[in-house]
Amino acid sequence: MNSKKPVLALILPAFNEDEALLKTVTKLRQIKMDLIERQKVNAASFILIVDDGSKDDTYEIMTRLYESSQDIRTVKLSRNFGHQNALMAGLKEAIKVSDLTITLDADLQDNPDVISQMVECYLEGKDIVYAVRSNRESDSWFKKNSANAFYRVASWLGVELIPNHADFRLMSKRAVEALLKLPERNLFLRAMVPRVGFPSDTVSYVRSKRQAGESKYPLKKMLSFAVDGITSFSVKPLQLLFYLGILISSVAGIEITYTLLEKAFGDPTAGWSSLMISIWLLGGLNLTAFGIIGTYIGKIFTETKRRPLFFIEEEHIETKSTQRFQV
Ligand code: UDP
Ligand code: MG
Repeated sequence: MNSKKPVLALILPAFNEDEALLKTVTKLRQIKMDLIERQKVNAASFILIVDDGSKDDTYEIMTRLYESSQDIRTVKLSRNFGHQNALMAGLKEAIKVSDLTITLDADLQDNPDVISQMVECYLEGKDIVYAVRSNRESDSWFKKNSANAFYRVASWLGVELIPNHADFRLMSKRAVEALLKLPERNLFLRAMVPRVGFPSDTVSYVRSKRQAGESKYPLKKMLSFAVDGITSFSVKPLQLLFYLGILISSVAGIEITYTLLEKAFGDPTAGWSSLMISIWLLGGLNLTAFGIIGTYIGKIFTETKRRPLFFIEEEHIETKSTQRFQV
């Protein structure tokens, strides 16, 4: 049981979010103040914004917020490292000065109203609380259906995922510390976190529309994220390839037997079209197979390089005046 009032860190990764940031911080502050007033969390709880190499005024806004208030912490990454790495940077830095973390998008799509419910679960002894989208009405038809297809394919291929959960989650200190021990460089947090174990729970929320600005996940980025997620957690595509190879070879075996029989007992027909189909089909399958194997080899390549996940250019992680928040 968690008896002492815990310091909560609300972590926002932000990439070109100057239009949405102020609104999000204002909303999160209300939620945080309410939790402090109801004696659920420590008065030293804070909001940590991670600037993931923004090109707009995100960092200026963050700095102004930090200078004018006590409850804002900032981390500026040296360039754009991507959403997952920005989340990891936020978790790693925040956990140094907090007891529990909640990560959520900077555009208010992850409804902050469920935060207090998540904190309740933590206070009841859960280490991880997954926020799950109960409905995706606000997403476009394409996003909704592609996401559903992704969760279905991923689970069929053996990737353990909480359906309709992305990166809106609460994690206790020990869960974050365990996560930080996972050595991989290709991050797919929604599949990595369930591997950590510990008691967990889910809460559901309705995903709202982005409050301002545009999505930072265009189709190309979304597709590569999906392929990355699956190939980081499942070798089933490689096994399927093997079975597909056997299947195709047996078709070729039937073809050979048929041709031999035709030759022995009749007039062999000039099979131009079947020849062409075979060439194209096998060529295509070969390329697909190489592509799948190449994806895994690429992963081995990036993992063996052991490059750091991010570099911090500047950070303000400590409280400015510690006396103010003595509890
Ligand atoms: N984000 C980030 N780095 C990136 C892309 C996105 O830190 O390279 C942040 C972004 O600012 C937002 C969150 O990740 O807070 C989710 O991005 P977005 O809302 O654009 O994704 P969508 O909701 O459209 O899937
Ligand atoms: Mg969004």
